Amino acid sequence: MDSQTKQPLVVYNTLTRKKELFEPIHPPLVGMYVCGPTVYSDIHLGNCRTFISFDTIYRYLLHIGYKVRYVRNITDAGHLEGDRDEGDDKFAKKAKLEQLEPMEIVQKYTIGFHHVLEAFNTLPPSIEPTATGHIIEQIEMIREILKSGYAYEVNGSVYFDVEKYSQKYDYGILTNRKLEDLLEGTRELGGQDEKRGRLDFALWIKAKPETLMKWPSPWGWGFPGWHIECSAMSTKYLGQTFDIHGGGMDLQATHHTNEIAQSEACNHVQPVKYWMHTNMLTVNGARMSKTAGNGFLPQELFTGNHPLLERGYSPMTVRFFMAQSHYRSTLDFSNEALQAAEKGYKRLMEGLSNLQRIQPSSSSSVNVAALRENCYAAMNDDFNTPVLISHLFEGARIINATIDGKERLSAADLELLQHVMKTFVFDVLGLLDETKADAKSHVVDGLMKLILEIRSEARAKKDWATSDKIRDNLKAIGIEIKDGKDGTDWKFI
Ligand code: AMP
Ligand code: ZN
Repeated sequence: MDSQTKQPLVVYNTLTRKKELFEPIHPPLVGMYVCGPTVYSDIHLGNCRTFISFDTIYRYLLHIGYKVRYVRNITDAGHLEGDRDEGDDKFAKKAKLEQLEPMEIVQKYTIGFHHVLEAFNTLPPSIEPTATGHIIEQIEMIREILKSGYAYEVNGSVYFDVEKYSQKYDYGILTNRKLEDLLEGTRELGGQDEKRGRLDFALWIKAKPETLMKWPSPWGWGFPGWHIECSAMSTKYLGQTFDIHGGGMDLQATHHTNEIAQSEACNHVQPVKYWMHTNMLTVNGARMSKTAGNGFLPQELFTGNHPLLERGYSPMTVRFFMAQSHYRSTLDFSNEALQAAEKGYKRLMEGLSNLQRIQPSSSSSVNVAALRENCYAAMNDDFNTPVLISHLFEGARIINATIDGKERLSAADLELLQHVMKTFVFDVLGLLDETKADAKSHVVDGLMKLILEIRSEARAKKDWATSDKIRDNLKAIGIEIKDGKDGTDWKFI
């Protein structure tokens, strides 16, 4: 694997807090699980940052020859408002507010999520399992954990016993914290609490009479806790131990810590070889989040329809903006940064289109093989997209300087440069050439104007045969024209 370059791929592992050589358990297969969205509302740009980062990682793994089974779940049940199993069910609350069935809420926001990720040109995962589609697997896993003695049932709910688990395993392994410190940071249990320990968390929650989404279980009617779905679905599709588990950094302390505990208590092995976490998208230094209310919807960003936006920015400008920072660094949103990204993105696209204009020379004045090596070295260093972009800018400089006669490229180097630029810009960074789409639609507009003028001249001469032929032939290729008072309009059917 990875024969493209001298340096092997290294990835930063949250679990060990260092960069490690990437060695999948069953090469060339790579199992990758990324925590997906909770589909009770629209996703904001912060969520998009995490999903786009993992899309680039997925694309690069595919590019260097791995066969990746990429699983990204949809959380469509079991997510209460509080991280500590309290508060209302997010889906039921939204369903009441919008006067819809909870599953209508799920459907609506799942479709919205797909549309947004399509706009950013992300590849679909290999499997997109839902929590509600895996209730049986979750119940089975909870039974196993109960059998192993790391959980207990109280009045129709089941809780994970963190203290018991900690006697054998390291509960704070992911965030490198001791049990005592974790306990200190957690509030005391109240008299009403069914939990035995302050850090215990729900695996199964007993339904109240008003609970809308509930299922029968060995413990009565109820619904799964938030974390168990990811343990159950990752085990089902990727096995008891798999290669990569990802998500945003905000998931480390609770969701992923509990996921490790559940999987280990059930399967008695560490579930994940490489834990990878994306850093947060921030607005004026504060994390963008649904609850803080500082989240732009991607649609608002595209149209510019938000008080914090000076104007709209295209999906590829936004994707390029995100690639300009490393996935483990915070990324602060600002209009200035997006405008700079827009310029950078256009510079790359211009470079790519100028490639066609280069005439090869008998020899080269630049080292394209070294540029190619640098691009791989950047991505092999924990997917360092900002460094990759600096090399792609060097590629664009070479292209422009060659056109100006300041550099020379041999035919073989020109072909190599073309290959390197296209591979990294389109296949790895997942960018699309929007300038081409703009240019294409400009050309279509011009052609349609010309055709409709010819038709209107024919009509003026009462040449109905030509006029009808134009209308019918356009219809056959999917364009409908409509004659009105103010002239003729057209649209794609
Ligand atoms: P949620 O729908 O809230 O469960 O979040 C879906 C994904 O987005 C999770 O992996 C979160 O960690 C991630 N996420 C949430 N907020 C941000 C943010 N501001 N920046 C980057 N990722 C985020
Ligand atoms: Zn998860």
